[in-house]
Amino acid sequence: MFTKKIVVIGGGPAGMTAAIRASQLGQDVTLIEKNSVLGRKLLLSGKGRCNLTNACDLDSFLGRFSKNGQFLRDAFKVFSNLDLIDFFQKRGLKLKTERDQRVFPVTDKADSVLQVLKKELHKNRVEIVYNSRIKDILVDGRKVKGVTFGENKFIAADRIILASGGVSYSFTGSGGDGLEIAKRLGHNIVSLRPGLIPLEVKQPYPEFLEGLALGGIRLKFSDGRRQIFSDRGELLFTKSGISGPLVLSLSGKAVDWLAENKNLYVEIDLQPDLSKEELNIRLLRESRSSPKKSIKNMLKNFLPQRLANLFMDIVRIPTDKNVSQITQKERKEIISLLKGLRLDIARPRPTEEAMITRGGISLKDINPRTMESRLVKNLYFAGEMIDVDADTGGFNLQAAFSTGYLAGQSAASTFKQINTN
Ligand SMILES: Cc1cc2nc3c(=O)[nH]c(=O)nc-3n(C[C@H](O)[C@H](O)[C@H](O)COP(=O)(O)OP(=O)(O)OC[C@H]3O[C@@H](n4cnc5c(N)ncnc54)[C@H](O)[C@@H]3O)c2cc1C
Repeated sequence: MFTKKIVVIGGGPAGMTAAIRASQLGQDVTLIEKNSVLGRKLLLSGKGRCNLTNACDLDSFLGRFSKNGQFLRDAFKVFSNLDLIDFFQKRGLKLKTERDQRVFPVTDKADSVLQVLKKELHKNRVEIVYNSRIKDILVDGRKVKGVTFGENKFIAADRIILASGGVSYSFTGSGGDGLEIAKRLGHNIVSLRPGLIPLEVKQPYPEFLEGLALGGIRLKFSDGRRQIFSDRGELLFTKSGISGPLVLSLSGKAVDWLAENKNLYVEIDLQPDLSKEELNIRLLRESRSSPKKSIKNMLKNFLPQRLANLFMDIVRIPTDKNVSQITQKERKEIISLLKGLRLDIARPRPTEEAMITRGGISLKDINPRTMESRLVKNLYFAGEMIDVDADTGGFNLQAAFSTGYLAGQSAASTFKQINTN
């Protein structure tokens, strides 16, 4: 087998995995990273605990990607979530599975994951060039020739793997350079949008509710006339709007809707297990059993204090009014709020704050069996820069690991094929 030069651009999970796999297969691999350290975004993942994958089966796994999940089938077959778990456990990293099959290191530290990857890079003699921002990929007759970086520096390469990430959390290094380079080389870039992002609302209330988390609620998104999408889960109020696992999961749909339509509203059903009629009976029962109780105190049986205060303001009920004095109209309004506190969605938070970039290199330009570009020979893509994105739960990191592994393996294996032919 001839040893050839493979250059990997980007030292995130995708680039590190690509470099490890290509070097395991005996190639001469150089990893080029613009920061002075590897894996800055990886260290932030899972609130610093790194939810590195999810233990669910392949079909459920693919189902958690927004629409392009099937593209990853080959990559997941070559390097699945079980392979990833095995990879880390064989190298001494103990893992644990938490709720919804989310996998974390037992240490609860993302750094433990990074240390295993760094050790493996070292063991396989991957050369790492730090503080070097790739400016361009040079191509000779639709075939890669090498990369340029720094002040007129050039590294020749037989194969290049571009794994420079998306455009969010740019302070970690992912500023979109690789997407610009891919575009210059003729690849289509599907519009870049924020994914897993909090939403801003027009009402001022979230400011007073900031930090309040509500579990088991239902969110119903609508255009004001008909429901567009809905789901149950946990909501968190932020200074300017709403976030939390449920909002992050639904945010992609909200962003797409807002891009093409003017109006988007969300109704928070705070009592999804009770109908309006059942709530009416419960409120009436409360008024009969404790007629002297203030309405505000009675509402605390249904709501956290801060929301109870907000309801009193919206319905304009004096704070000292007691339950026996509640009018039918007030009771009806309270029930309407409990079943649908409405907020007008203004916009998503900026893409910079997104946990994942949606859009990226068009899947039409990438061969899913190898991750090679269909336009430039010997150029491979991996990780977040590809037009795939998923829900929270470890799916995005697994996509980076799997596409990185496949890109590394394909880039390295083509040499073998050339040699054996
Ligand atoms: C706050 C936060 C928490 C997250 N938590 C989770 C989680 O728990 N589970 C999960 O599955 N996903 C999580 N994600 C998503 C996950 O971190 C990303 O999907 C993943 O890091 C993408 O890996 P990547 O290697 O493609 O890109 P990146 O991790 O962004 O790495 C790209 C690398 O390329 C380098 N680079 C960029 N341009 C150049 C250049 N011109 N020259 C040289 N190097 C360059 C960058 O410096 C960077 O090191 C989280 C994201 C965020 C922001």
